[in-house]
Amino acid sequence: MTRKSAVVIGSGFGGLALGIRLQSLGFDTTILEKHEQPGGRARVLRRDGFTFDMGPTVITVPHFIEELFAAQRDVPRLAEPDFALLPGSNTIDPASRCAGPATSRYVTLVPIVPFYRIYFDDGSYFDYDGDREHTRQQIALLAPGDLDGYDRFHAAALAIFERGFLKLGYTHFGSIGSMFGVLPDLLRLGALQSLFGFTSSFFASDKMRQVFSFEPLLIGGNPLNVPAIYAMIHFVEKTWGIHFAMGGTGALVSGLLHKFQDLGGVFRPNAEVAGIMTESRRRLRKPVARGVTLASGEQLQADLVASNADYAHTYRDMLPARDRLVNGNLRVKLARQSMGLVVIYFGFRAEPDDTVRLRHHNIILGPRYEGLLTDIFQRRVLSEDFSQYLHVPTLTDPALAPPGCHAAYTLIPVPNNASHIDWATEGGRLVDRVLGMLEKRGYIPRLGDRLMTRHFITPDTFQSELNSRLGNGFGLEPLLLQSAFFRPHNRSEDITNLYLVGANVQPGGGTPSVMMSAKMTARLIAADFNLSC
Ligand SMILES: Cc1cc2nc3c(=O)[nH]c(=O)nc-3n(C[C@H](O)[C@H](O)[C@H](O)COP(=O)(O)OP(=O)(O)OC[C@H]3O[C@@H](n4cnc5c(N)ncnc54)[C@H](O)[C@@H]3O)c2cc1C
Repeated sequence: MTRKSAVVIGSGFGGLALGIRLQSLGFDTTILEKHEQPGGRARVLRRDGFTFDMGPTVITVPHFIEELFAAQRDVPRLAEPDFALLPGSNTIDPASRCAGPATSRYVTLVPIVPFYRIYFDDGSYFDYDGDREHTRQQIALLAPGDLDGYDRFHAAALAIFERGFLKLGYTHFGSIGSMFGVLPDLLRLGALQSLFGFTSSFFASDKMRQVFSFEPLLIGGNPLNVPAIYAMIHFVEKTWGIHFAMGGTGALVSGLLHKFQDLGGVFRPNAEVAGIMTESRRRLRKPVARGVTLASGEQLQADLVASNADYAHTYRDMLPARDRLVNGNLRVKLARQSMGLVVIYFGFRAEPDDTVRLRHHNIILGPRYEGLLTDIFQRRVLSEDFSQYLHVPTLTDPALAPPGCHAAYTLIPVPNNASHIDWATEGGRLVDRVLGMLEKRGYIPRLGDRLMTRHFITPDTFQSELNSRLGNGFGLEPLLLQSAFFRPHNRSEDITNLYLVGANVQPGGGTPSVMMSAKMTARLIAADFNLSC
């Protein structure tokens, strides 16, 4: 029997994970990547002897990664349970909390504790590590009146995690009916109100409201607007821990690419796709994807096409409007994009005191929370104040910097390009303010004297380099009306044999969800091509 062929546009986590799964389904798969490097948002910047991961740094759910590294050529394993549960129970297998044997052949994952150190503007901090007793001890110090609230929050968020993640996580909502069946449960659990509203109903202290609601910002969500179903992030982290790939997330990307190539897949860098070729069959039937045309003019035929690129870019730039009844120009235009990001990559000479204040992952909250979020997501203005996520991976892996130095990045949520902010002017000013604040407030004393290299990116970089609409940092914003059935579908409703994978489609953004989207898309493909798994 002749083998079927597949083309994947883009080599982000989603493209690589789907490529691996397609090879194991028996497709001859080619991944086409616009850039020299794989990884998309997870690509690597090397500068002046420093290695910087440009995007994801918080790696969780190691058994999703293990599934990919354990894949075998032409041996589909899509029917296996999605979550590693102990036989005959609903209890998570503790072994799934660590890197598995297949992963260890490609990359070393290590746990990071605390998960985050969260600094408040008054200088106090909260070390979040997922341990219930330790969490209670810290609440007792910072907000003793919220101890009961924490116990109630814990129970409510656990119920959401069990229903929303363990039971529904892998559901592809292809029809509106598929959503109605689950709404009563989600309503009962309070999972459809805003996360901040949900959190505020348990905690009276502003600090605790922030600690237990900021996490969706790491996948582009506004805590004031994301549905409380995102409280499950708290439990995803608590259940499987937070991990770091030695050598950086780039080492994990390289491992996934090697795995794909070991399975016989072909990776083509510097291969930007200009259009998806379609063939119209009889009237009233959907067009069929037949392959892609590269920016160079080269054409590649394939039995199926999967796009890991931005949702708007895929539909609006790669397909003619006449082929799109569902994902038409208006729908694509009206879709709300996640916030933008300014990310500053910087290297500095280490001093012994650096380890007193800094942890591997630091969240440094500014003086305002709700007001700042409203400025970023609703008013779309660049405020004088800011909050940031400061990543210092050399505290775990010194090899990422020259001896005696640290490599760091700090990420600042900002409005996306619907704001029309002039980043050519404002980007540099914001960078100076942020680095100045880290020095003055004592997070990195004398940073100006110690600085050895610096580079930054803005929403303009996301727009031009990653083809992200309005320079979004994380794809479509996670909103109730952009979730489940209302989020772009992994199987295109417009074009037969066209699939989408990654942060823009179901179930959503962040590396665990993106790996889930690859498995969901592979399942749809297996069903459409009558492959038994
Ligand atoms: C700064 C930052 C920090 C983050 N931190 C975390 C974190 O700690 N933990 C976490 O879980 N998530 C994090 N995220 C989110 C996470 O990075 C993303 O959800 C995930 O990496 C997205 O993967 P993807 O496969 O959907 O797409 P992308 O990584 O966006 O990849 C899409 C790929 O498609 C390519 N492409 C686009 N157009 C074309 C074309 N026409 N032809 C060919 N190729 C094309 C692009 O070049 C790119 O390689 C972070 C994101 C950012 C930006």
